[in-house]
Amino acid sequence: MPKAILIDTTKCTACRGCQVACKEWKDFPAVPTKQRGTHQNPPDLGPFNVKLVRFAEHMEPDGTVRWNFFPDACRHCLDAPCKSGASLEDSIIIDKDTGAVIYTEKTAKEDFETIRGSCPYDIPRLNPKTKRIVKCDMCIDRIKKNLLPICVKSCAMGAMHFGERADILAIAAKRLAVVQKEFPKAQLCDMDSVSVIYLIADEPAKYHKFAVADAAGAPGMTRQEFFAGMFEPLRRAAKQVQG
Ligand code: SF4
Ligand code: SF4
Repeated sequence: MPKAILIDTTKCTACRGCQVACKEWKDFPAVPTKQRGTHQNPPDLGPFNVKLVRFAEHMEPDGTVRWNFFPDACRHCLDAPCKSGASLEDSIIIDKDTGAVIYTEKTAKEDFETIRGSCPYDIPRLNPKTKRIVKCDMCIDRIKKNLLPICVKSCAMGAMHFGERADILAIAAKRLAVVQKEFPKAQLCDMDSVSVIYLIADEPAKYHKFAVADAAGAPGMTRQEFFAGMFEPLRRAAKQVQG
C-alpha cells in the first residue's frame, strides 16, 4: 500500500526538530555555517542536509508581518520526474510497498545536472566525495520496521502525519476545511501527484520558490531579502536627495 506524509505548515513553529533529527538519524556530518541574518540555516538543501526548514517573511497590505515556515524535502512523486531523467534503469528505484523514491549508489553514474534539472522541486544534491546524488529516502529503513520516518516522529507540534495514502488524504482534506475558514487561500500542494503533501495557508510563492511544481511569481523571501526590499524606497529617496 502506498504511504504518504502530510506536512501541516500551519502547525509548524520552525523549531527545526525534524531537520536536526533527520541529520542525526542519517549520521550526516556537520557542515560549516555562519549567521546570515536569518533563522534559516543552512541556506539551502545539501548532500548532508536533505531536510531544511525554510523561512520566508512577507508584509501584508495592512502592515502585518507574516513568517511562513516550510520544512522542505523530497515529495516522493507518484510518477517521479527525476526517475524519468535517469539514464540507468536502477539508479533511481521506486519501493513497491511504500512508493518511496530511492536513489541507489548507481546515481554516481548519472549526470547530476540532468537529474536535478528534472526535479520540479529542486531537491537532488550531489555528494562531492562519493559522487552519489542524494535526497530524502522517506526513512525507508525505519518504515520497513514499522517505525515512523524520523521527521514525523520528532515533530512535537503534530505538524506531520504518516500513514496509508488514503488515510492521509482524508486527514488532509479534513484539516484543509478547518484552515480555510481562517485562510481562504489555504491549499494542499500538488496532492494528486506527490506522496509528501504540504498544507499551506497562503499562495505557494509566499513559502518557497519550489513549493509547488509550477511555482510562479515572487519566491518566498529570506529575512535579508525582506528587509532589503523594505528599505529600498528609502535608499532610492536618499540617493535622489544626494544627487
Ligand atoms: Fe524526484 Fe524531485 Fe519528485 Fe523527489 S521531489 S521524487 S527528487 S522529482
Ligand atoms: Fe516544524 Fe515540526 Fe519540523 Fe519543528 S519538527 S520545524 S514544528 S515540522
